Amino acid sequence: MSDASSIRTPGGNIDPTTLRPSTTGSNGHEEVLRLDKITKSYNIGKPTEVEVLHGLNMRLERHDFAALIGPSGSGKSTLLNIIGLLDTPTSGELYLMGQPTSVMDDAQRTAIRGSAIGFVFQFHHLIQAFTALENVLMPVMVARGKPDRETRERGMALLAQVGLDGHAHKQPSELSGGQQQRVAIARALMTRPALLLADEPTGNLDSKTAGGIFDLFRQFNAEFGCAVLIVTHDPRLSDTCDRVINLVDGQIVSED
Ligand code: ADP
Ligand code: MG
Repeated sequence: MSDASSIRTPGGNIDPTTLRPSTTGSNGHEEVLRLDKITKSYNIGKPTEVEVLHGLNMRLERHDFAALIGPSGSGKSTLLNIIGLLDTPTSGELYLMGQPTSVMDDAQRTAIRGSAIGFVFQFHHLIQAFTALENVLMPVMVARGKPDRETRERGMALLAQVGLDGHAHKQPSELSGGQQQRVAIARALMTRPALLLADEPTGNLDSKTAGGIFDLFRQFNAEFGCAVLIVTHDPRLSDTCDRVINLVDGQIVSED
């Protein structure tokens, strides 16, 4: 099996240090994500076996800014976890950067998860014993060990971009909920991912703070050209997205 340094896509090579597409098509429409008839079943082989995703097809390109909406229990988190390589589909194929993920070994999956995908959760999962800056630097420390000066400076710059200038050396407990979520967003962007996934990132924030978080996603989408897929319950927020993908009972029923 080839390693991450030789990943090829139909559109060209992927930069091995970032796993980002290294070439941009003339029209900039580069595929970041494709789902081909994805299904997911739980409790396979048991009396409680249940299929919760029923053959989903979807495609995201660089610069896409999309909301994933749908009733509670419709499969949004299951789908996001599959896209983020935190879970595997039961059948069908998930392509990331044009690469079929089913044939990847654990090392390749970990490499893509660590380099090409940023994930923001409803509950930010910051490490309480670390400062804001140390939390932001985490993805790089996991991949490459002690951060060098350039990495630390990038972490500081990201914290400034999310409006946390002057908070870098505070513990999460010293920050508000909205500020903590901003730290989590800076952390997700630290590796300059090609795809940013967020599962109800504003679910426990007030609407003004939530709007600010969406503005940030939009800003990074424009600045880094990363595709963004956000699960949200809030129509006022999904209405600000360019695409709205509607999932009902494990099926995509419409896209506006
Ligand atoms: P959403 O995020 O849209 O609320 P989920 O993806 O969390 O939906 O859940 C989709 C369906 O899958 C639900 O019916 C849920 O009960 C079921 N489900 C989720 N995780 C599991 C699991 N680990 N085992 C069995 N069923 C699960
Ligand atoms: Mg969910």
